[in-house]
Amino acid sequence: MPLIFDQSKSGRRGVRPPSGDVPSADELPAQYRRQHPPALCEISELDTVRHFTELSRRNFGLDSGFYPLGSCTMKYNPKILEKVAALPGFSNLHPLLPQLRQGGLLVQGALQVIYDLEQLLNELTGMAGTTLQPMAGAHGELTGMMIVAAYHRDRGNQKNEVLIPDESHGTNPSSAAVAGYSTVPVDTDAKSGMIDLNDLERKIGGQTAAVMLTNPNTLGIFNRDIQELVDIAHRHDALVYYDGANFNAVMGRFRPGDAGIDLVHVNLHKTFATPHGSGGPGAGPVGVAARLLDYLPVSRVVKRRDNTYILDYDYPKSIGYIAPFYGNFGVCLKACAYILMLGGEGLRQASDHAVLNANYLMNQLKDIYELPFKRVCMHEFVLSARRMQNEHNIRAVDIAKGLIDEGFHPPTVYFPLIVPEALMIEPTETESKETLDRFVAAMRRIAGKAKEKPESLRQAPASTPVGRPDEVRAAREMDVATLPEP
Ligand SMILES: *Cc1c(COP(=O)(O)O)cnc(C)c1O
Repeated sequence: MPLIFDQSKSGRRGVRPPSGDVPSADELPAQYRRQHPPALCEISELDTVRHFTELSRRNFGLDSGFYPLGSCTMKYNPKILEKVAALPGFSNLHPLLPQLRQGGLLVQGALQVIYDLEQLLNELTGMAGTTLQPMAGAHGELTGMMIVAAYHRDRGNQKNEVLIPDESHGTNPSSAAVAGYSTVPVDTDAKSGMIDLNDLERKIGGQTAAVMLTNPNTLGIFNRDIQELVDIAHRHDALVYYDGANFNAVMGRFRPGDAGIDLVHVNLHKTFATPHGSGGPGAGPVGVAARLLDYLPVSRVVKRRDNTYILDYDYPKSIGYIAPFYGNFGVCLKACAYILMLGGEGLRQASDHAVLNANYLMNQLKDIYELPFKRVCMHEFVLSARRMQNEHNIRAVDIAKGLIDEGFHPPTVYFPLIVPEALMIEPTETESKETLDRFVAAMRRIAGKAKEKPESLRQAPASTPVGRPDEVRAAREMDVATLPEP
């Protein structure tokens, strides 16, 4: 497919800009004036539309098909939330508008959204206070670890280690390391798929600043030992951090605060209906227990007795700003609208359906693909392609690529690391039974191919504009222009 610049014809026009209503460039000093016209392509509106429509059809998105990417929660996000975020009263705001003096009314609505969303998240997580500043899950973890460090410093505790289960998301150890801690992995019990409390007891001590727990964990399993884990940690004056990126599994059913958890982050872009991909935009609000409130980032939005809202900076123990202004306000706005739109009962139903859909898929697939941890799952589950590798030399990556030819986005593969040839599948609550059944049929066809035509599977995908790249070469020579044309 030609680049849009290759389609350019001198003198052709797509738009005709209105004549300028600002002084012309002749009045600029000569050294600031452009010497040559900009290198824009000259193309008609129709050809522009066709070019970008064609490009978009080569992409796979949630609006075009099922996207069971485990741990990422690629669910459908109602379009009305985009409309809410585009309301001029929100989209025309500037973070430096005065809050109360002069044009104070301009930002009161936005401050109320921040305040209300914090209250709603406190209610959902059972925590005493929440900051909306962190701009991703990993950023929330870093914020949490900085709060842990500030808390221990304040109490004169000398602690340098954070304990993290070996199945955790890779962001957990990196966040703890960036905050200055050494990290110690804790084993997963081979039978239950939960963190091994005996191993935890062996490794925890006076040096432990925090234990990071992901729940449901990356195997999609709900940890039934949370209370015991919290008690063990607190006996050593260690805080417990709850990675709640995948909170969509437990909304309205479980509140980390009720189990004595000290810090929790949730991913608004997974659970609370913000589309995500390619690294953003997202938000990873962090909730804390009462004893950690003083360390939350500033500024905080507070509600005054006359029902107006102001930004308060008077928290001397705060870890300070961790994002410009108030974080990704548009993402928070969409999350607030989503929560209010569904209400408590609706959120609980969303979680129930996410869990039901995942268990349905797991039970439809467990006879043909190996299921290493045979437990009721939460929002996702992990299969292993090890048996297929042994019998037919077909790996998880071949199954993933085969799914592309079937019209589905592949699941997450090779994660968590503790499962060989892992396929991590998350259907989300927004998919219908018919879609799930089509996915099961595709997975069964692929299992058949692994037996009968393994070579075709090893070469999949065959139906896409770009075939399977040579992975080693792709990593070494990152030049997309050399990819073969279809
Ligand atoms: C997605 C995820 C994260 C990281 O969130 P980002 O917003 O991608 O930084 C952390 N932990 C778990 C369990 C996740 O699923």
